[in-house]
Amino acid sequence: METTKVNKILDKWNRDPDYANEILADIHKKWESFPEDVLKYVADELKVPLGRIYNMATFYDWKDVKVPEYPILRTKYEPIVFRNIKEIKPKEIDSYIAVGGYKSLETAVKTMSPSAVIDEIKRSGLISRSGTNSPTGIKLETCGRIAKTTGKTPVIICNGFGTSLSDGLIMKLNPHSVIEGLLIAAYAIGAPEGYLFINTKYTQAIDRINTALKSAAERGLLGERIFDTDFRFNIKIHVAQDAMVCGISKPLISYMTGFAPEPKDQYTRISESGYKGYPSIIENVETLVNIPVIIEKGSGWFANIGKGSAGTKVFLLEGKIAKKGFAEVPFGITLRELISKIGGLKDAGSIKAVQIGGASGGFVPSSMLDESLDFNSIRKMGSPIYDASIRVLDNETCMACELKKLVSSMADGSCGKCVPCRDGLINAHLLIDKIVKGTGTIDDINALESIANTIKTMSFCAYGQYAPSPILSAIKHFRKDFEIHVNEKRCPSGTCECCN
Ligand code: SF4
Repeated sequence: METTKVNKILDKWNRDPDYANEILADIHKKWESFPEDVLKYVADELKVPLGRIYNMATFYDWKDVKVPEYPILRTKYEPIVFRNIKEIKPKEIDSYIAVGGYKSLETAVKTMSPSAVIDEIKRSGLISRSGTNSPTGIKLETCGRIAKTTGKTPVIICNGFGTSLSDGLIMKLNPHSVIEGLLIAAYAIGAPEGYLFINTKYTQAIDRINTALKSAAERGLLGERIFDTDFRFNIKIHVAQDAMVCGISKPLISYMTGFAPEPKDQYTRISESGYKGYPSIIENVETLVNIPVIIEKGSGWFANIGKGSAGTKVFLLEGKIAKKGFAEVPFGITLRELISKIGGLKDAGSIKAVQIGGASGGFVPSSMLDESLDFNSIRKMGSPIYDASIRVLDNETCMACELKKLVSSMADGSCGKCVPCRDGLINAHLLIDKIVKGTGTIDDINALESIANTIKTMSFCAYGQYAPSPILSAIKHFRKDFEIHVNEKRCPSGTCECCN
């Protein structure tokens, strides 16, 4: 064993067992495998059981993932998340300060009490753009209150895992806006320390966030006595493996404490007992970057943007569409406007379905294109807003075949801790495979629907609770595609690779 090399990696992470996942990632990069003696040495040095190290080493597929590049699409709407993006040079703090950056932080810590900051955020109507879709002001208030009553130090975590690629883009293009949002939220709850949890695939974003943290610290915007007040705050980074489950709150906390991303318990709220038992709050990147703007322009200004929900949302337009890319639009515009006017799809008649919310998002039929895009309507369509990709599928698509690909990747992504998600997704995949191959029956379609409902209601964490959305929505809106496979033993699209 090359002990010097292993020691170098261990030292890079201060031999801190909380960074066991990151240490293993570096070891894998160096050796392209996990030599047994290296794993034993790491376990001894970190003083953790070897089984825990094996669990992490075998959890991920450790592949390098390339992030697809998408442009920011032009819209007629005023951006909030992508504000000043042309003027800001991500590696230069001065360019951020020149457009008013860190002014909101100064206003907050010098002229507002923490509760006034929370009230302003509550009045703005800002809703978390992550999986829970709960009001950010209430989340902050609850965490801050629990910390006060229990006397425990609150912890704030910015989730930059980025199930939605937009979070990676925001960190890459405007890292200081993320840091400023995190600082104001930390001030509001009284947290002296916070974390940025970033997906390893966002290599450029990681570099730029590191540079931004360094320059913010040099300017006294991190550390002790920020703006000559009693407010102090420091930020540490955790680099996450690209396993879908890592982006979910409880697995994320397991990861950050040096375990595989398996949730440890189901019933405790993280606001009561999150990171290492401290009252914690997790907010994603896109939510946090709204906070400096709310402080600068006021809650009334923010609340008036959008219909149905306040503010804007960055959607990623993908699939059979003329212009693919990120579009920041106010809540309340319709799917039709987003796809036709911004995405440039001329013939809306060619749309069969739209999948909202990434791999675990629901399918919406073309008859629902005039639905508005706000939190409630999107939830009713079967999709949480945590991955706001909008994938357009055309009339050539067979929904059964489309579903087969998705369920296969969802089954791969399960952490395996609980039976409904682990076995349920595997069984769902076996059933959909049978249906697609023409050896299934109508009973198999019903069984698939029933399994999906069980996974949704019985799974331990949000991963399993959302994973069945594509199954349930595909069967609800496109049952005919499944029936053609089992009754006529053919694929309605006639072109797909998985059954022809
Ligand atoms: S729902 Fe899935 S990801 Fe979540 S704990 Fe269960 S097996 Fe793991």
